[in-house]
Amino acid sequence: MDRRTLLQGTLGGLLGASAARLAWAAPAQPSGIVHLNEKMAVLSGLKDNVIAFSTGDAWLLVDSGSPGYTDTLLGRLRGLGGHAKVRTLLNTHWHVDQTGSNAALGKAGAKIIAQAKSRAWISTEHYNPTEDRYIAALPKAAWPTEVFYSTGTLGAGSERVDYGYLVEAHTDGDAYYFFRNANVLAVGHVCSPVKDPQLDWYGGGWLGGRLDALTRLYKLADDRTKIVPAYGPAVSRGALKAEHDMLQVVYTRMVDLLRKGYSAEDMLTAGVMNGLARKWTDPKKFVYAAFKGLWAHQDELAPNIV
Ligand SMILES: [Zn+2]
Repeated sequence: MDRRTLLQGTLGGLLGASAARLAWAAPAQPSGIVHLNEKMAVLSGLKDNVIAFSTGDAWLLVDSGSPGYTDTLLGRLRGLGGHAKVRTLLNTHWHVDQTGSNAALGKAGAKIIAQAKSRAWISTEHYNPTEDRYIAALPKAAWPTEVFYSTGTLGAGSERVDYGYLVEAHTDGDAYYFFRNANVLAVGHVCSPVKDPQLDWYGGGWLGGRLDALTRLYKLADDRTKIVPAYGPAVSRGALKAEHDMLQVVYTRMVDLLRKGYSAEDMLTAGVMNGLARKWTDPKKFVYAAFKGLWAHQDELAPNIV
């Protein structure tokens, strides 16, 4: 056991067995950096993932980590070596765990790109029902300097990045960023291979949007595409399909029970989450969010739903 392993073991013991809290210290990723290829890496230890791509003389990032992690993020970039400047930042959505260093990077001159609805949330004070409080607008330096509505393309060094809107999949402002030459697809929280899939129902995410988005991403990818979620390791498109198929089962069951007048709690009791291909940490939270989202879209589910 070398010193680093020993240190990690000690810290791991102090922090407890939470996989989320230990992810940064896992032996496979000792420095919080996982290389995807010679130009790209996933930076962990910022609560959620940041993807760093070197254009040769600067960095292009996908997301900026959680608030309070700016020094860690810059340290990870220094760990990658070479240049220090972040020229471009692409946000997968507007949640705080994706925009924590937006202001610092924006102030230092980074161009920030996001879907238009994400800029609206970032730049406006808004209510968060889970925390029952208002979230202040981020400072202007954190706001996207460029937005898109449906799709777009960006040149970055030798890379071509195609991006697009994933309608109401996790929030109402989700985007994918597809690095064509590297065959790396950043999908934010629209794919969730490790944690329970999250639907921000108040922020516009719902099961139907999630299923459409997973189908779209699956078609974009091929068998060699590295799909990088906002949390956890890169996965293949097989993982997208598995998540889609599981959520399709939940969707079908829930719509059926919704028609019969079940509440979210009734659905849980009736076993709406039973026998799924995934073990859930908090099925109650998921069913509540999915239920709220389905009612918000009840006119799209079937005729004569009410
Ligand atoms: Zn999110």
